[in-house]
Amino acid sequence: MAAIYLDNNATTRTDPRVVTAMLPFFTEAYGNAASTSHSFGWTAEEAVEQARQETALLIGADSREVVFTSGATEACNMAIKGVAALYRDKPSHIITQVTEHPAVLETCAVLEQNGVRVTYLPVDQYGQVSPADIESAMGPETILVSIMAANNEIGTLNDLTAIGAICADRNILFHTDATQAVGKIPIDAEKLGIGLLSLSAHKFHGPKGVGALYVRRRNPRVRLITQMDGGGQERGRRSGTLNVPGIVGLGEAARICREELSSEHEMLAALRDRLISGILAEVEGAALVGHPLQRLPNNASIYLPGVDSDALLAALPDVAISSGSACSSAAVKPSHVLTALSGPADLARSTVRAGVSRFTTEAQIDTVVQRIASETARLRRLTPEILVPPGVFQNA
Ligand SMILES: *Cc1c(COP(=O)(O)O)cnc(C)c1O
Repeated sequence: MAAIYLDNNATTRTDPRVVTAMLPFFTEAYGNAASTSHSFGWTAEEAVEQARQETALLIGADSREVVFTSGATEACNMAIKGVAALYRDKPSHIITQVTEHPAVLETCAVLEQNGVRVTYLPVDQYGQVSPADIESAMGPETILVSIMAANNEIGTLNDLTAIGAICADRNILFHTDATQAVGKIPIDAEKLGIGLLSLSAHKFHGPKGVGALYVRRRNPRVRLITQMDGGGQERGRRSGTLNVPGIVGLGEAARICREELSSEHEMLAALRDRLISGILAEVEGAALVGHPLQRLPNNASIYLPGVDSDALLAALPDVAISSGSACSSAAVKPSHVLTALSGPADLARSTVRAGVSRFTTEAQIDTVVQRIASETARLRRLTPEILVPPGVFQNA
């Protein structure tokens, strides 16, 4: 059997149209976008500005609000450290949630060592943070709220409208790590009252190693201390020769998502639901993890009681899905997201994540359902002492 890729929350296949758009910028059009004295530079600069426009359009921004980075990790660092540095001499406080990506959590942990106070809010059983909790955590020293749009492990969406409104009301800057949401659900940074937004091309069929930080320009203008000093590219916000082919790829990926988002959303959700209902029908006690409705169209996180997810993955080498230790698979420890959900004790050990994409087929879904069902049954026979409590995780 040809390998089936369902790990689209980890990364996605670069769309062939994106590759085609990028290629000339490796070969003939290899100029430095900062070279202003010749046509090689102008061509590169023009392509970068077009990509900036496309990136802005996808998130409801103005192109001058887009700063290109090496990805979402850099964008989150630039945003959070850039804001904290502004308040370096004053007591300051940041509000975030326990289920953020390490790009946010580890950045906050570093700031804590430098004296910044950080509140890590809990989430409910679906993985959603309560906007009311955010509001109660706010105080006179709060400089930033950093809450992700969609969770990379369980697909749960946060209520950005409510959170943005609270932040605007209290005049507190709102950063959202929207890496999983951009290109999958409509996001309008301007309307949502977002001050800073991080995104990454490789999560929506663009190339790896390129992303962007949206920095609001007005109502109110967001100020940041530069984290990367040098030649002054990106209006001095992020120095370094621009990754022109990568940026062109980001722009093309953004254009495709913007034009196809509404039709693609339904197609992805249908595949996702086929996968979820297939597994829930075939595997006794299986349950959906995360919010049943407020979730990414492409993510299915499924609890398989009595099954060690890493053993299941090992038994399915030709199916690319991931386990509860997904985002920290270098260090094997249970997922901080799954452990935050107050579910059954073995939730983190027995949950698998599958993500569909525009390249996934129904036939692939059906194959994966059958493979997961048969391997789950085999693993349960091997360890019959693990009781399967049916429907133990009814809340999902
Ligand atoms: C993938 C991901 C990141 C990191 O993005 P990179 O571009 O790979 O650095 C950050 N946050 C979330 C939610 C992600 O899914």
